[in-house]
Formats: sequence, C-alpha cells, structure tokens
Amino acid sequence: MTNNKETANKSKLFIQEINNILSKVTLSKEQKFVIDKLLISLQTKPEPKTVFNTYKKIIEILIENIESEKNSPQAFLKTLNHSLHHVKDVVNGSIQEIHEQKKHKESIDLSILNNIENIDDTLTNHQDPSKIRYEINQQLSELRRAVKNKSAIEHQEQNLLKNTIEQMRKELRSVTSHANTYKKKLDQQKQLTMIDPLTQLPNRFALEKQMSVEYIRSKADKDGLWIAIADIDHFKKINDNYGHSSGDKTLQAVAKTIKSLLRDRQFAARYGGEEFVILLPNLKRQTATSILDSINQQVKKIQFIYKQHKINISISIGATAVKGNESMLEAFDRADKNLYSAKDKGRDCIVMD
Ligand code: GH3
Ligand code: MG
Ligand code: MG
Repeated sequence: MTNNKETANKSKLFIQEINNILSKVTLSKEQKFVIDKLLISLQTKPEPKTVFNTYKKIIEILIENIESEKNSPQAFLKTLNHSLHHVKDVVNGSIQEIHEQKKHKESIDLSILNNIENIDDTLTNHQDPSKIRYEINQQLSELRRAVKNKSAIEHQEQNLLKNTIEQMRKELRSVTSHANTYKKKLDQQKQLTMIDPLTQLPNRFALEKQMSVEYIRSKADKDGLWIAIADIDHFKKINDNYGHSSGDKTLQAVAKTIKSLLRDRQFAARYGGEEFVILLPNLKRQTATSILDSINQQVKKIQFIYKQHKINISISIGATAVKGNESMLEAFDRADKNLYSAKDKGRDCIVMD
C-alpha cells in the first residue's frame, strides 16, 4: 500500500516535471496530443506500467527534439538532464517495489501451503472414514496446484515488468550518451565561434570573456593590466588599390605578427574589421611599452608585394592601464580615445597615458 502511495506521489511529481519540461520544448501537434493522452492516463492510473510508458514516450520525444532544437540547446539539455535523473529515481523505486511485492506474495503462498499441510496432518491423524479422507485429499492437492499456478503466473508478470524496466534503463543509457555527444558538439561549435576564421585569432566574443578573466586576476597582480587597441592605417586604401583579397592577406599577416610577439598570459583578439585588441597583464609600464613598440616596428617590416608594388603597412596603437577601481570598459574607452589621438597625430605611432 505504501508503495502504491509512493508511486502515486512520484507520478504527481512527474506530471509537474513533465509540464515544466514541455514548457521549454517546442512540441508538434501530434506530440502534444500523445503527451496529453499519456498524462491523463497517468493521473487516473498511476501504475508503474503507465509511468514507464509515459517516460518511454517522453524520452522518444526528447530525442526527436534534440535533433531539431536549435533555439536554446543549452537550456534544453539542462532540462533533459534533470528529467533523466528523475526517470532514474522512479525506475529504481519501481524495481524495489516489485521486489517487495514478490517477497510479500511468496510469504502469503508459503502460509497457504502451511495451512494446507496442517489440514492434511489433521486429516491424517483423524480416524475419519477413508472415503472422506480420500476426497478431501483430492481437493487439497488441487488447491496446492492452484497456489503453485498462481505463483507461476505472478512470477511471469514480475519478469515482464522487470524486462520493461530493463528496457527503460537501456533507453536511458542511450539518451544519456546521446545528450553527452550533443553537448560535446555544442562545446566544439562554441569554440569555433570564438575564433575569427580569417586571422585565426580569438574574436570579440572571446576577448570579452578574456577581459573579465584578466580583470579579476589583475586585482591580485603586482603590476598593471594594460589594454591596447591597434588599428591598421589607411586600410581602406589597401583594399581600394590592391583588392579585397590583398586586404585579407594584410589582416592575416598583421595578426600573425602580433601573435608572434606575445608571451604567456598576453592575449590578442581581432576586435572587428582592421582592429585588434591586446591584453598585457601584470606588466610594468616600461615592459608594456616595449612590447607595443616591437609590434609597431615588426608590422612595418611585413614584406608584402602586389604586382611589383611594395605595400606599406603600419598600425596606430592606443593603450592604457586599468586603474584602481575603474571597470574594464572604462579602461577600454580610454584606450580607444588614445587610438584616436594616435590617428590625429599622423598615424604609425603609439599613444599611451
Ligand atoms: P584609418 O587609418 O583612419 O584607420 O583608416 P582606414 O582606412 O584603416 O579605416 P576605415 O575605417 O576608413 O576603413 C576600414 C576598412 O576596412 C573598411 C572595410 O571595408 C575594411 N574591412 C573591414 N573588414 C575587412 C575584412 O575582413 N577584409 C578586408 N579586406 N577589408 C575589411
Ligand atoms: Mg578602424
Ligand atoms: Mg584603420
């Protein structure tokens, strides 16, 4: 009885949870129809079998939706994972329930058999006419057979249910591995979207992440966190005079040069267009200046020939250090202002406050 109550409670919990999951998943009309039917039967008949069937269908639908869900995959996976854990609980609970039921029925059968044995004993010791004794014995053996049959049928039922649960477990394992693969793919995709495909440098998204990491770290650093914005000079002219693909090659060469001059925690990203952002953590002004200086000098040394014309490449840099209690954004804006000053000053120079 307690077990039945438990199953009913779990079903109630399950219905709530399913509704919660379904609110986050887009269902087709057909899927919604099937789910509604299952939830109604679960409310009226909270038996393990109904729970299993509902779970089975839900899992199938979730798998179907893993393939098609594009909008909020992370949230979807989170809810899927949550529901899988709940499935596991219910399946485990049902296994225990079956086990206890079986034990209970076996003990009932045993006591019936004992009773029969007692009657048999009494009859054996009693001095009743032999005919009556014979008939009663006949009845008793039939009763024994019936009890044995009952037990066998119940055993079969238990096996059936056990197999169903086993299938459920297999299915759960497959859903879990499916979800894991899906998550890995998402992580890979996320990694790809953090790299600028043209220059292979981290992109703006990755930069924002790195800026917050370094900002926090900088609080514990002895020396300053420097932020520099480098912008290619008259880049539009390179595009206009030598073609867009020459512009692309210039971007790649500049990115490679910047990257080659950075060490350890030092970080460069393509911020957009022909602009690069460089983070130089835990450095004294002199060291930061010398790194930016060498970037400036090395970019000018890039050998780039287009149809016998040497293309001159230079960059302007605006830089600053993050001050005491200002935000990273405030420092970024100051670096950007310094970049404007560098352009105003005639380009190919560094302005640092
Ligand atoms: P300044 O010295 O003032 O920075 O002048 P600029 O010409 O470098 O700057 P402007 O902002 O006028 O032009 C930037 C150009 O960069 C315009 C745009 O077409 C080009 N650009 C942006 N992204 C790419 C890209 O991925 N490839 C190529 N080839 N050109 C790009
Ligand atoms: Mg620019
Ligand atoms: Mg420019």
